[in-house]
Amino acid sequence: MANVLILGGGFGGLIAAERLSAALGSSHQITLVSPNQDFTFYPSLVRLAFDECEPDDITFDLRTKLNDTRVHFVRGEMTAINPRAMKATVAGDEFRGEIGYDYLVIALGRRLATEKVTGFFEHAHHLLGVRAARKFGEAVNSFREGDIVVGMCPDAQLPVPVCETAFALARKFESEIHDGDIRVKVVFPGPLESVFGGATLHKELESSFRHRGIKVLYDVPISKITETEILSSAGHAIKHDLLMLVPPFRGNAALAPLGITDDMDFVLVDKTMRVAGLENAYAVGDITSFEGPKLAHMAVRQADVATANIANEIAGRKATEEYYHEIAMVIDAGGSDSIYLRYGITDETLYGLRRGRIWGLAKSTHDRIWQARHG
Ligand SMILES: Cc1cc2nc3c(=O)[nH]c(=O)nc-3n(C[C@H](O)[C@H](O)[C@H](O)COP(=O)(O)OP(=O)(O)OC[C@H]3O[C@@H](n4cnc5c(N)ncnc54)[C@H](O)[C@@H]3O)c2cc1C
Repeated sequence: MANVLILGGGFGGLIAAERLSAALGSSHQITLVSPNQDFTFYPSLVRLAFDECEPDDITFDLRTKLNDTRVHFVRGEMTAINPRAMKATVAGDEFRGEIGYDYLVIALGRRLATEKVTGFFEHAHHLLGVRAARKFGEAVNSFREGDIVVGMCPDAQLPVPVCETAFALARKFESEIHDGDIRVKVVFPGPLESVFGGATLHKELESSFRHRGIKVLYDVPISKITETEILSSAGHAIKHDLLMLVPPFRGNAALAPLGITDDMDFVLVDKTMRVAGLENAYAVGDITSFEGPKLAHMAVRQADVATANIANEIAGRKATEEYYHEIAMVIDAGGSDSIYLRYGITDETLYGLRRGRIWGLAKSTHDRIWQARHG
């Protein structure tokens, strides 16, 4: 019997648990550790902020879901991994101690490194959680006049909700933007191509923004935020009355002593999703070291690859499944400006870009089906 330990209960961890449960059956033990008992469907957080859904629509109880698939759920936080003993240390109110493993799946997501930008905590909203999204939504609802700025800090590898928030603001404040009472700006830390991992969609996106009266500013590496201004290391000073930013991302510092991470604490993996330098360990999702945006569809595809390889290894076969790093995303602009993009980071022939109302509708339908199937 093999013990598989999954660290993290987001997209990567959940899909890994489901796939392993289906592949291994009840003859093996699968345990998932996460500090949060709720699974959150992050792509719907913009809709939550704009009162288009309720928290219950986009979260579900992970323990119940995992019990149905014979996966043992432990509420707690991994604080250390001992690779020689093949054990992870877990701290939580219901369990505190070590959990052994034969195979490890690291699916810890990203850390929000708000401390990297002075004043972020005091003066900026973000969207990366149910509570934060609702707080931002309340601020939007009480906003009457002035400058709204949305954007990404340096190393924030998540452009989709920034664009979707700008479009949602443009829909909500259409007449105020037209009358000049409210101005919406989008701020990116570099050129648009770099924000989207090399994809050349800037013309489509720029025309969509222009069409809605949204101003876009590139190459603004935000370094400091005051009550009224965003300051950048390139010398910008941009006024704000309401601010929503994706903070810098980092991996997990508890993994640094293992020598398996890059300089931002993201885990280095090979094409099979195996962790370089850690025996019987795989990593999936936002915690992995890849360039470009970090997206749920990547976490799911990486979990597919990692779990197929673990099942192969347990069965005495070689780990032969390989992951191909590509971007596929929909930016839902709430109308005909919605954009679908698919782009292989190292293979430009995969490039595909479509625009139209259908993509926004396809995204919300896909999201609902995904939640119904997994939740
Ligand atoms: C507002 C928003 C909109 C988005 N829109 C899209 C979109 O349109 N399309 C798209 O493809 N992607 C989108 N994403 C990105 C997508 O949500 C992420 O890429 C995805 O959640 C990554 O999955 P993950 O499992 O790697 O990490 P997560 O989903 O963040 O899960 C990480 C898990 O690890 C747990 N954890 C953290 N630390 C520990 C620890 N020490 N010990 C144990 N467990 C721990 C966490 O509690 C969590 O359960 C969006 C994200 C946000 C925030």
